[in-house]
Amino acid sequence: MDTNAVRDRLLKRRDELRQRASDASAEARHEADPLSADFAEQVTQRENDDVLGAISHSAQAELQQVESALRRLASGRYSTCSGCGEDIEPERLAAVPYTDRCRSCAESGAQRGARI
Ligand SMILES: [Zn+2]
Repeated sequence: MDTNAVRDRLLKRRDELRQRASDASAEARHEADPLSADFAEQVTQRENDDVLGAISHSAQAELQQVESALRRLASGRYSTCSGCGEDIEPERLAAVPYTDRCRSCAESGAQRGARI
């Protein structure tokens, strides 16, 4: 496995996610767009804030997974499944570069309600 290519890919993804999370939270704080004086308009803005909050939240969650993948990469455990200790399938890592579970652990985790 080309760990340098994987690291580059994860670092690029980390930057994108950081940017997305900070854009969404800046917008939700109305740094460039103060709350309207009009009540109906405020309702729309607050609904939009909820959407932005969800975007920011999901970006943060993925960011944590990417950072943990980078730590596993640095410690040489990147392709080791945290569920069963076997190697994670290379094609699975290519599809989901921040996963820490092999396909069968991910599938049994999904049945328990885990996200990945
Ligand atoms: Zn496993």
